[in-house]
Amino acid sequence: MKSKSPGVNTICTHVGELKDEQYKGAISPLYMSSSYAYEDVDVKRYPRYFNTPNQEGLSKKIAALEHCEAGLIFGSGMAAISHSMLAFLEKGDHVVVQKTIYGGAFNFMVEEFPKYGIEFDFTDGFSEADFRNKIKPNTKVIYVETPSNPLMLITDLEMISRLAKEHGLVSMIDNTFASPVNQIPADFGIDVVLHSATKYLGGHSDLCAGAVAASEEHIQKIWNVGKNLGGSLSDYTVWLLERSMKTLGIRVKAHNRNAKKIAKWLDKHDLVSQVYYPGLKSHPDHSLAKKQMKGYTGMLSFELIPAVTPEKFMASLKMIKQSMSLAGVESTILSPAKTSHALLSPEERERQGISDRLLRFSVGIEDKNDLIADLKQALETVVTDQMQNTVV
Ligand SMILES: *Cc1c(COP(=O)(O)O)cnc(C)c1O
Repeated sequence: MKSKSPGVNTICTHVGELKDEQYKGAISPLYMSSSYAYEDVDVKRYPRYFNTPNQEGLSKKIAALEHCEAGLIFGSGMAAISHSMLAFLEKGDHVVVQKTIYGGAFNFMVEEFPKYGIEFDFTDGFSEADFRNKIKPNTKVIYVETPSNPLMLITDLEMISRLAKEHGLVSMIDNTFASPVNQIPADFGIDVVLHSATKYLGGHSDLCAGAVAASEEHIQKIWNVGKNLGGSLSDYTVWLLERSMKTLGIRVKAHNRNAKKIAKWLDKHDLVSQVYYPGLKSHPDHSLAKKQMKGYTGMLSFELIPAVTPEKFMASLKMIKQSMSLAGVESTILSPAKTSHALLSPEERERQGISDRLLRFSVGIEDKNDLIADLKQALETVVTDQMQNTVV
């Protein structure tokens, strides 16, 4: 009989854990050694080879969560992205890249690829034709990110996988926003799954890490580049990330629940002109999101009506912090135009649909009533202040 694979919370809690044979402690011991025996051993272990006991254990957990054969842990999300890209590309090759992607990945391609003679094209949109139009005879990789930051647009994973197979391309996805709790790209045939583990996998805004999951064969290729570029993660942080990931399943479900409630609340508010959340029926990609995701994440964006100054609104929040980054247990809010997308020209931001009024909200796991109360009092405060100013 085929054994049934464990559920997501069991994978989070147990897969890849190390046994404490000496003292029989309940959790994985932390092996900080950077020097291991080399005679009579099956593996020569060294931190930069991604194969210390803690690194190997955590890689198994990530691979299991992503329904992949193997995984690797990196020093940052960008290390996972850059090493994986360079593993499948060489001089003269071409990459098709989704129109909007994480700013750091955009900068990596624009600033580094020309030095290696690697070509790339961004798509004009998210449809099959938009991707197909950019494929050239020398295309090797197709790169997507869904849901995308900050408008939460959805790319059809089944379509990307089909295009990749048709043209013999390696398909890659940045799965950071969804997390494996909400979206398992390998189930749709995507080859390489990337994460900034700094976000949901870590989840407590206290570490920087990256991860990749793929087939044994693809991971071997990425490892070959990884040992040369040296982007591995320190064992202490690996251990901390393992601890954090034990609660990934329950955390992400709490983020999903809160974000859906708050998206609905904001959507009904008179001072809010637009809410971008794939869990809302009004979102243009709702049905696609429903097809390929199990939950809609804790990320959403919204715009206030022009009469309300976004900066004043954010400054009036008491619990929700104005802060960069995302996906921690605490709620944070930011202006993409001033942070993640500040390096783009105003014209490029406009092309991507990112107005100066847009706010990106990383909904935490606090009680939803407290979050709504904070949003409510901040909206009331700005409106009262602004009305008084007008009268005076
Ligand atoms: C943060 C982030 C990254 C980069 O990760 P780092 O850990 O900061 O290197 C990549 N993709 C997405 C979607 C992100 O949010």
